[in-house]
Amino acid sequence: MVTKRNMDAFTIHTDLLFDPKKKVFVNNTSIVVSRKSGLITTVYQRKDSLPKTIEDPDIDLRGLCVLPGLVDTHTHILLHAYTEASSTAQMRDESLVERIIRATNHCRAALLAGFTTYRDLGTEGASDADIHIRNAVNRGLIPGPRIYCVSEALASSGGYETRHENAIGGSQVPRISDPCDGVVGVRAAVRRRLGAGADLIKFYADYRKRALRFPESSWPGCPEVMFPPPQEGLQGERNPNLLLFDQEEMDAIVAEAKAARAPVAAHASTAEAVTMAAKAGVTTVEHGFLSMEGSEAMETMREKGTIFVPTLAVIELFVTKAAMKDAMAQVKKAFDSGVKLACGGDTGAFAHGENARELELFLEAGIPLEEVLFSATVRGWEACGGEWCGRKFGWIEEGVAADFVGLGADIREDVGALRKVEWVMKDARVWKSGGHAMGMT
Ligand SMILES: [Zn+2]
Repeated sequence: MVTKRNMDAFTIHTDLLFDPKKKVFVNNTSIVVSRKSGLITTVYQRKDSLPKTIEDPDIDLRGLCVLPGLVDTHTHILLHAYTEASSTAQMRDESLVERIIRATNHCRAALLAGFTTYRDLGTEGASDADIHIRNAVNRGLIPGPRIYCVSEALASSGGYETRHENAIGGSQVPRISDPCDGVVGVRAAVRRRLGAGADLIKFYADYRKRALRFPESSWPGCPEVMFPPPQEGLQGERNPNLLLFDQEEMDAIVAEAKAARAPVAAHASTAEAVTMAAKAGVTTVEHGFLSMEGSEAMETMREKGTIFVPTLAVIELFVTKAAMKDAMAQVKKAFDSGVKLACGGDTGAFAHGENARELELFLEAGIPLEEVLFSATVRGWEACGGEWCGRKFGWIEEGVAADFVGLGADIREDVGALRKVEWVMKDARVWKSGGHAMGMT
């Protein structure tokens, strides 16, 4: 009798695979996946040894260190490295066409680096373009990670804007937030974002909103203001981080979003903003790099089950070595005290494709490898909304998306393995093999 082979299903054979749910590396595991659904259908431990060569359509990943596809929990698909152009120049001066072409390249770079999911936290002046980029990926028009996006972040009036000094003269710049105030106003803003197609809501709990009080020299030949108060990187009296919303407003944002089954991310730098956002019940707190010492910030996050996304990779770009050391020690302390952590680099501020930097910094902070990988997979899924995502991804089990990364070295012995991405699969489709990108066909 000839059995007709099921062409929909194929098997991936591994000999070193990370299981993030159990937080262990397992040997000799095979995974059956469905092309049609893009999901894992069976996972089994092999008892018998495999033949030397594996035949199509099955895939042989023996010799690679295989992880579930990685989740970058804090990205900006529409930004490129600030070392190439400042965020102001990108938001104010670059054409929307150029920004979208760049975003298309970023999508590809992220996917080929093994990041199969992006939680994209704001277009920074490109309105709801992220929603349409997400749709283009989902429609198969361009390669890219699975994107969960916010369109525009919420901020109170005057809270988060591209600053310029020629408003009287009529200069206009694209807005970089959806401004809203008061309980009624913030609820309306959440409704606007969800109506526009956002997957989740982001709001600025605090920001350096008084930039124009002692403005920086921001065009060639612009004289510096004399005797400004001191400022070091992202903190100081020249442009301090100040609350943008009161507790009632934050509570209303979260209640409105959650009633619509949307998770909430809060940008919060100060301990006060972290505490208020966590009390409001946000899903994640972004940054939180200023000292939480002597505050209830960490305890509130732990109690409320808030996921902390410390974005160490972007903090590294802005602060002194000493301040970076403190930020990393604070992340380790958060981990030790039982605060949930997810890996999100604020990627875009540095190059898409370099997403692994956040994982490297987690490791440098002293967080165990298995926990770091958990933060970059399962916790990433939770940060994107968990069951509200409409798809499971980030671990290896029947019914979960077939997203995998094959590294060319054993990450337990070589941290650099995260930069040796040989093979990438998303939704049961291979995008990179033998270190080379695969075509769209
Ligand atoms: Zn960001």
